[in-house]
Amino acid sequence: MNMPLHQSLRIGGYIFKQKLRRREKFPLIMELEPLFACNLECGGCGKIQKPAHELKKRMPVEQAVGAAEECGAPMVSIAGGEPLMHPEVDRMVNELVSRKKFVFLCTNAVLLRKWMDRFDFKPSKYFAFAIHVDGLRERHDASVAKEGVFDEVVAAVRELKQRGFRVTTNTTVFSTDTPQSVIDVLDYLNNDLQVDEMMISPAYAYEDAPDQDHFLGVEETRELFSKAFANGNRKRWRLNHSPMFLDFVEGKVDFGCTAWGVPLYCLYGWQKPCYLLDDGYAETYRELIEDTDWESYGRGNDPRCDNCMAHCGYEPSAVTATLGSLRETVRAARGTG
Ligand code: SF4
Ligand code: SF4
Repeated sequence: MNMPLHQSLRIGGYIFKQKLRRREKFPLIMELEPLFACNLECGGCGKIQKPAHELKKRMPVEQAVGAAEECGAPMVSIAGGEPLMHPEVDRMVNELVSRKKFVFLCTNAVLLRKWMDRFDFKPSKYFAFAIHVDGLRERHDASVAKEGVFDEVVAAVRELKQRGFRVTTNTTVFSTDTPQSVIDVLDYLNNDLQVDEMMISPAYAYEDAPDQDHFLGVEETRELFSKAFANGNRKRWRLNHSPMFLDFVEGKVDFGCTAWGVPLYCLYGWQKPCYLLDDGYAETYRELIEDTDWESYGRGNDPRCDNCMAHCGYEPSAVTATLGSLRETVRAARGTG
């Protein structure tokens, strides 16, 4: 993973402690959705199809911080919806940062430049923006179903970098992508915009997403990434994933799902079993772990999991496999893709 050294050391130490305690299931990243509302309507999004009264709700900061403390994950990814539509998202970030959580604020960036000075965000080694960029101009604007968004994203990234913030990106890949479109966007983010790190996500086929025609199957995902990563590309890019997760998406290794490592807390509670499926809610992380039948999920166990290669199910599996092998641990520590 190309994460900063201090972050790698903290996460490594945290995982080591869990192993010493013989804790089988523990959280690596907490996904936090403090609202469902968004200012875009992307065709592949399965998060915003809620009744109007639900879209108006905002999670109190104390509730979000309490859930993060109970769960204990060292990293928190704040998403939604669009988190900048939460009037106290800056206080939420600052409270988590003051508890030494590594916080990622996942935003489509449309409101960033306009509202930046309304919020009290401060550059910190514990805080990074994670900006949604699915492709270059035409591809991204088609993905978010609105013209002009790509140009706004680019301007926002430049402004954030100028103000000293750490900026990462997240690129979701659909069947409309080709190896070349993935190469083009990652080259642009890596070399031209020079963001700090980039994430990739094979799109998950949400049942509620308006566009059901452009999700990739497992074999298509593997083929697309193995071609995009060829010729040394993977090594050149600052990808924010463990080498074994990248091996997984290009089909060099396979894992079972370990969704307990990336639990989701939203306005309804801890979502079972993961960020993508919605099989009920638990009041506490402990209850989520103890009351979920984890064996009934994953490829081959639940048809809804058959095409899933999302990081929320498989990045913790990759991290666990990495720590089980000295060779892989050294490869990850070196940041060699
Ligand atoms: S920006 Fe994110 S939350 Fe908003 S509609 Fe698009 S995918 Fe969904
Ligand atoms: S494979 Fe895991 S992460 Fe993917 S949908 Fe199923 S339970 Fe969720």
